[in-house]
Amino acid sequence: VAPLAGRAGEAGEDAPAAFVTCFDISAVRRVEQLRADFVANASHELRTPLASLAGFIETLQGPARDDAEARTQFLDIMAAQAARMRRLIDDLLSLSRIELNEHVPPSGTADLRRLLSEALDALRPVAVERRMTLALDLPEVPVFVPGDADQLTQVFQNLVDNALKYGRPDTPVVLRLAQGQPPAPAMIGIAIVDRGIGIPRDHIPRLTERFYRVNAAESRNRGGTGLGLAIVKHIVNRHGGVLDIESEPGEGSTFTVWLPLAAGSAAEDGNVVPLR
Ligand code: ADP
Repeated sequence: VAPLAGRAGEAGEDAPAAFVTCFDISAVRRVEQLRADFVANASHELRTPLASLAGFIETLQGPARDDAEARTQFLDIMAAQAARMRRLIDDLLSLSRIELNEHVPPSGTADLRRLLSEALDALRPVAVERRMTLALDLPEVPVFVPGDADQLTQVFQNLVDNALKYGRPDTPVVLRLAQGQPPAPAMIGIAIVDRGIGIPRDHIPRLTERFYRVNAAESRNRGGTGLGLAIVKHIVNRHGGVLDIESEPGEGSTFTVWLPLAAGSAAEDGNVVPLR
């Protein structure tokens, strides 16, 4: 409060005046809190496999030094923990890179049919390992979207990987395309449909938060980092798209990425296979 003129207690033209400047710092505090939570979560996620590695190293240096069988078994566990740390660091780096350029629109054009086929082919060995099948239902006509092909590949690989991770053995994961309905006919929807464990309704709005999981232990057991959907959300935002999630616990989930079509794309003429 800054007195401008006059003395306190005086009346009339010389009455004291003051400026009061208020800043709403609640938004700043919220961002600071989110950042602090993120650092705490990331440290915790890294510390857990690190503690396990340190424990096994100590055992191998001491009691299990001459036990060949234990050594083989422990080394396998240690390799898995190191792989988990690497996945986590890769995802953290991806997320920070994506957040940095989230407000810069992508300059290239991506061939969606090619990109989806390649993303799926990369995950076929994972599907075989989990006794699941991958099906891709593509339109005959080319479909182009303005976008960064590497980032979009990351989106679909993350979503298909989740569908395989939370799917059930002997069930399929299906990818389908759909043209947007009016008022958004210039959007293309890519749906990834699984028949897995599903997601309780009240968790759905929070799934794209960093490290948010329905069941943290289950996610870790299945090799999850808790960052996949946060990465997906930021990339989809950068592309001017929308992520839509529908799920029924026990029945399965459908994650649909809606993206703007490139001008002149054949799909703009309504030639895209509809969503079934
Ligand atoms: P994670 O590495 O844990 O899979 P994500 O950010 O990719 O992290 O997903 C966040 C959470 O959303 C998961 O832990 C899981 O609880 C839920 N989830 C994501 N995809 C699916 C799916 N297809 N079916 C069921 N649950 C899912």
